[in-house]
Order: sequence, then structure tokens, then C-alpha cells
Amino acid sequence: MFQTSTIVSLVEGLYDGNVAYRDVMRHGDFGVGTFNALDGEMVALDGRYFHLRSDGTVNRVSGDELTPFAAVTNFRPNIDHTEDGRLTRQQCEAVLHRLAPSDNLFYAVRIDGRFPTVLTRTITRQSKPYPRLADAAAAEPTVTISDVVGTIVGFHTPDYAQGIGVAGYHLHFLSDDHLSGGHVFDFTVDRPRIRIDSEAELHLSLQATEEFLATRFETDVSGGIASAETSGPSAPA
Ligand SMILES: [Zn+2]
Repeated sequence: MFQTSTIVSLVEGLYDGNVAYRDVMRHGDFGVGTFNALDGEMVALDGRYFHLRSDGTVNRVSGDELTPFAAVTNFRPNIDHTEDGRLTRQQCEAVLHRLAPSDNLFYAVRIDGRFPTVLTRTITRQSKPYPRLADAAAAEPTVTISDVVGTIVGFHTPDYAQGIGVAGYHLHFLSDDHLSGGHVFDFTVDRPRIRIDSEAELHLSLQATEEFLATRFETDVSGGIASAETSGPSAPA
């Protein structure tokens, strides 16, 4: 698994990276990320990189687009399992915990199926002075995608690495027709095919921008990450 920068950098509002996607693409065919100025969500699947924006457009990522955060891998699953029936996100996570060798690993997760609902967010491009991530995310409406065939792409980060990544599961969604997707808060899925590529190796590449070098990071980052990335809106519309 290759990752450029950290989630805490986003939490602190460091939205302008100095890494081009052509360099990220060398490290994997599968993954999640964002773009400079927090201009949407990235999903990479089967070697194709997609740029999802808050206006609903989906484009292929060009190599010269810059990113403040991305995590990718060459997805080669060693676990392949299909569940019967309809599962919630919580139930899928329980299956993942059972299938994965350990919660102490970083691993890549792929879930394919028909999704009755996917609660997503696709962040809007931010302007300077940048708000902190929790405020940018709170201002973003969530979108419920209904009855769609598609794929969830993401990673598990161990609890001890909260801040490097999103502790637990950081998941993005892309529909099969490549017309919808986003950062995933919640979902239901019918008869999901769940694949895991368990990883024991993380290549973490920091971005030594002037802003990063000068930032004083909070030592307790869980609150800022949870509100922006995992819990979603308190009252989903
Ligand atoms: Zn995300």
C-alpha cells in the first residue's frame, strides 16, 4: 500500500499537495483519495482513476492533477467471499473483521454488489483561507444513491494508526456505469462479493510543503476525523 500524505494533514486544512496523480498511479491500480483544494473524491478501480465532483460529474483523472492525499495499492486479493442476503455497512464490517487475518493490519477492501442505498458525500472545491476539514465536511450535503450496481473501494487502517489514515474503514463508491459515487458514510448491499488484499507493508510518503512543515498538529485527532470522515451527518437528509 502506497499513501501520499496523511489524514491529519487534511484535518488541519492542508488541501494543496505537491504530488501529481501520474506519480500516484505508478503505485497502484486501486484506491481512494482527493484533489488539490479538496475538489472532489478519487476512486481508482481496475487501473482506472476517476475524479468525482460535487456537481455530480465523473471524469477520468489526468496525470498532471495534484493531490494532497491518496492511498493506492496493486489489488491482488487473497480472500474472496460472497455473503447471501442483504447486509448493512455494520454487518459488512463484521464480515470483514472475521475474514481479515488481523485488525492490526492495513488492508485493501473491495465490495461488489447491488446496493439498495449508498449514503455518500463528494466534497466541494474549497477556497482560501481553507476551513478545517470538519467544517468543510459539515457544510457538504450528503447524497443517497439508490438501487445501483457498483463497487466499494477502500482500506482498513488499524486503530493505532488513526491520523495516518482513517482508523477503521475508509471507503469510496463507484457505480458500474461510472455515473455516480463518492466518499461512503453508510450503505446496504445485496449478496455482496467481498474481497480483501491483506497488506503488511505501508509506504508512507509525506508531502513536505511549507504549510505541512509549519503546522502544529493536534495530538488527539480522533474527533476531527470522525466528524468529517466516518460518522457523517448527525441527521441524514
Ligand atoms: Zn474519502
